[in-house]
Amino acid sequence: MRSITSRRNVIMKAIVVFIITGLLTIPGYTLAGTSNISSNGTPHHPAFVESRDDLVNVQVAHRSSPSHPMAPNTADVNIIELLQQLNEPLILGYLENLTSFGPRETGTPSCDQAAHYIFDTFQNMGLVVRYHNYTDATVSGSNVEATLYGNDTTNIFIICGHYDSVAAGPGADDDGSGVAAVLAAAEIMRNYDFDHTVRFVAFSGEEQGLIGSYHYVQDAYNSNESIVAVLNADMIGFTATGSDGIVGKIFENPASEWIVSFTQDISVIYSDYIGIQLFPQGETWGSDHYYFWEYGYDAVFYHEYHFNDYYHSANDTIDRMNITYSTRFSRLILATLAQMAQQPVQQRPVLEISSISGGLGVTAQINNIGDANASDVKATILITGGLFNLINVQSTSEQTVLNAQGSMQSKAMVFRLGKILITVAADASNADQVTKQATGFLLGPFVLEVVIAP
Ligand SMILES: [Zn+2]
Repeated sequence: MRSITSRRNVIMKAIVVFIITGLLTIPGYTLAGTSNISSNGTPHHPAFVESRDDLVNVQVAHRSSPSHPMAPNTADVNIIELLQQLNEPLILGYLENLTSFGPRETGTPSCDQAAHYIFDTFQNMGLVVRYHNYTDATVSGSNVEATLYGNDTTNIFIICGHYDSVAAGPGADDDGSGVAAVLAAAEIMRNYDFDHTVRFVAFSGEEQGLIGSYHYVQDAYNSNESIVAVLNADMIGFTATGSDGIVGKIFENPASEWIVSFTQDISVIYSDYIGIQLFPQGETWGSDHYYFWEYGYDAVFYHEYHFNDYYHSANDTIDRMNITYSTRFSRLILATLAQMAQQPVQQRPVLEISSISGGLGVTAQINNIGDANASDVKATILITGGLFNLINVQSTSEQTVLNAQGSMQSKAMVFRLGKILITVAADASNADQVTKQATGFLLGPFVLEVVIAP
């Protein structure tokens, strides 16, 4: 009897070893795997900052985005009237004035002269203007902000660029082109009434590490301002020689994808006046939109398609720019801003991950707890860890429409052993991304002891 029992034990041990060996040698698999993080950046970044790690690390509580406007389907005669006023002489005039001060490095007299010029220009337009002053360890300076109040003073839409430059050159394209777009939009929009409040902002300290915009956004966040959308224009006036320029770049984070859709619709609806097709690029930390993202606001960064050959040099001058292109790009941003400022803000979908459970694989339930349907919903389950940390499996499910108050399930299968970390993320083209994590224990295809992280 004894010998039979012990032989059984030996056989059982052999089977267990065989199973474990098998589990380790079978690669983890996934139903569908995609990566939605685009990291192809722009060479544009602050002159004195080499990497994102050198920027201030912002850690703030999640703020839920306000409702946002939806793009119209047809052209609006009022918007066309605005577009017709934004012409090349207007852009060229602002560029000549801005570059007349020479290089505008933050902290130098010429940068201050440019600030005064922008302040006076806004004031002569009849707008409410203020300097937003900031002091940092490296530099102190002033942002210039003009406000055009709407009937609704809560929801704020911002157009911005940076008026400082590097010491080496006059910064015609970087970023005289963006500030010219800001000034031109203000000059034209001031004569009209809009539902929402519009702010025209010229930042400084950009080249030192986005310092002016960092302090601006931090103050806005602490004042609990409801900034719905930020349109940042930085280098929108250069094309390769001989080209008229019919394409442009736009950078966005997942929460700001609705702005990309909106402005792409605008470029199509008013194509006769704009003539630029936008290509979304994903995320980049290299300009003033960045801290808006870090503080939970939705923002995009408009940027020329062919990067300026004379970047940060004495040759970043007006004569090397394409004023036709710069004017058309400015029109695209103006039309987007003006249309947003007069569209009603709508109910929007709000995603929630209500459960992460085990069993055969991992199942996540995603609910739309908002009052509008979510479009192009994407749910991703990432499973990592396991014995010897060998598991790295990602599964993505997509659904074209997730109705208001509706729910969907996403599933991921994996076949391994050991403790695992489960990360679930869900987003939609018109809703903010949500994420949730859980831990569990994997035994072959079975996921046990799932505990959601607090
Ligand atoms: Zn720039």
